[in-house]
Amino acid sequence: MAATQHAERYFTYLRSQLSSDARRYIVHQLAQEWVAGLSDISPRPLPFAFETFLLAKEHELPSCVLKRAFYELLRKEGLGLPSEGLPHYDHKFTRGDYFLLVRTRETFDMTWLKAVIRKPEAHRDESCVCVPGDAQTRYWAASVIDVGLDIQYLHDPVCGLLELMRLELAGYCDRCAGKARTAWKEARLQLWVHLDQVLTRYQYPQ
Ligand SMILES: [Zn+2]
Repeated sequence: MAATQHAERYFTYLRSQLSSDARRYIVHQLAQEWVAGLSDISPRPLPFAFETFLLAKEHELPSCVLKRAFYELLRKEGLGLPSEGLPHYDHKFTRGDYFLLVRTRETFDMTWLKAVIRKPEAHRDESCVCVPGDAQTRYWAASVIDVGLDIQYLHDPVCGLLELMRLELAGYCDRCAGKARTAWKEARLQLWVHLDQVLTRYQYPQ
């Protein structure tokens, strides 16, 4: 509760500053903190995503702040929505916001499930020196399913796909492993572009 009250006070302060001569400085600080390049993303979540998402909507903050906060909500348990509510500003969270979060999470979850539910294809042409498929299936299960990557990244395929790209991919020849990694890289990029597309409903400065 103390942490919630502290957050409320802090965001009330930010609101007042964003309506004052200090706006430019505060916007700059928030844009430095809520970066939204793919290379900026790590599995470590940023706190106060819900409050920051509302702040970005309310005060037309740069698009990177909105995008990063939205992404942080997507990958949090319960979509990052506060179970106890935040009385001063949670009414600014609309049904449209909620449905956009739900639909985008579905896209994220499905992308991840398609990536991990079965092993990458081997091409099996004359240049392919992959081991037999059943051995690849065992290796895939051992390196992805048995260690829990499938569950760990269910709501965060942006980080999960990067984890897959870093796997050794035992049993795959270089060419087939390279094609799998390229597909995961492309899927990751598409998710990041998809976020831009769904967030165009909010008209914000770049
Ligand atoms: Zn191969």
